[in-house]
Amino acid sequence: MHYLPTRVIFGEKAVRKAFVYLNPIGSKALLVTGKNSAKASGALDDVLNVLSTLKIEYHIFDKVTENPVLETILKGAEVFKQSSCNFLIGIGGGSPIDAAKAISLAAANNLDYEHIYDTAAFKQSYPLVAVPTTAGTGTEVTQYSVLTDAKTLKKAGFGHDLAFPALALVDPQYTLSLSGDTTLNTAIDALSHLLEGIYSNKRMLLIYPLIYKGIALIYSNLRRVLNNPSDLQGRTALMQASLYGGIAISHTSTTLQHSIGYPLTSCFNVPHGLANGIVMKQMMDLYYPYVSIELDDMFTYLGISKNDFYNWLDSFEMKFAGSLTVDFIDAKIPEVLASRNMANNPFTASADDIRNLYLSLNQHP
Ligand code: NAP
Ligand code: FE
Repeated sequence: MHYLPTRVIFGEKAVRKAFVYLNPIGSKALLVTGKNSAKASGALDDVLNVLSTLKIEYHIFDKVTENPVLETILKGAEVFKQSSCNFLIGIGGGSPIDAAKAISLAAANNLDYEHIYDTAAFKQSYPLVAVPTTAGTGTEVTQYSVLTDAKTLKKAGFGHDLAFPALALVDPQYTLSLSGDTTLNTAIDALSHLLEGIYSNKRMLLIYPLIYKGIALIYSNLRRVLNNPSDLQGRTALMQASLYGGIAISHTSTTLQHSIGYPLTSCFNVPHGLANGIVMKQMMDLYYPYVSIELDDMFTYLGISKNDFYNWLDSFEMKFAGSLTVDFIDAKIPEVLASRNMANNPFTASADDIRNLYLSLNQHP
């Protein structure tokens, strides 16, 4: 089944072009951002200009950290209600936009700490406008929000149709200010979503063209952008791929490939995309027997072999700098096995599969 309720404006000056759609959404916006990226990218200025022209009021909530924690969601919901907002604009990478989704649901349904993930309690939400400043998560077109419980260091997502943004304003210009590391990590996150659109047992023929095109865009533009960060054409290609990755997982969900990375992020601060990247080859080896036809079609589309693809991945030298103890691995295996996305694998992953994947990260060359 296909469902994509988000109106998307993609390309140069997307925020300015949103005029006609922004006006009816609400009269006072909570602007949900991180510390610097909304300003550094130029997105905040563009949004403030449009709001001022439309005479829409706003309140800024700039307390979202990377890998947003549940406390921030409750705080944001409180500020939303206290300042009488009636819609949200999430500006930034996946962290502020995911936080904005959860703030909307927490405020609309009066959720407390224990119920932020309780999708059965989601009866309504406030409209959300998403303005991405990274080219990675594709969260501007997904129904997911990924949060971290700081008490248990558990990172996990929820998905609900009420979390889809109403409007996504996607201007690749905002990604020009990204560091090289974040450019790489976020592009690898997008690549991961695209591959998971193939791995997932919810895979569907209709979105393969987007997936193949998205992977090809990353394959032919990532190195180019890392070499020349101000290459707007290359940045646009990566943004397009990220959007396609979001569309892919909004239909297929993510898989073990994502679950395995969450503990690395919550316990070792490995950036989300890098956590996907450091297991990407092992993951493809694991999935290949189940989706070899689809993956081979994708390699044919790219005009390369699987081996070429692995060499290309190796060229980015993504590594896990720490080392994982047996105690850590054994403590996290049940969490990974119980994660929401495990239901989407075309095979039943065993504790041994997960142990071996984690152990492989300790083998530094
Ligand atoms: P992020 O955590 O939002 O941001 C990473 C860093 O990049 C932050 O320091 C941020 O600064 C900075 N930054 C962002 N845009 C910038 C720009 N244009 N210029 C300069 N710096 C910039 O990174 P992300 O990879 O986009 O998001 C990761 C989160 O999204 C994770 O929690 C992940 O689990 C989640 N995720 C969600 C979905 C979904 O479908 N909902 C899918 C995949 C991943 P500030 O701190 O100042 O903002
Ligand atoms: Fe992701």
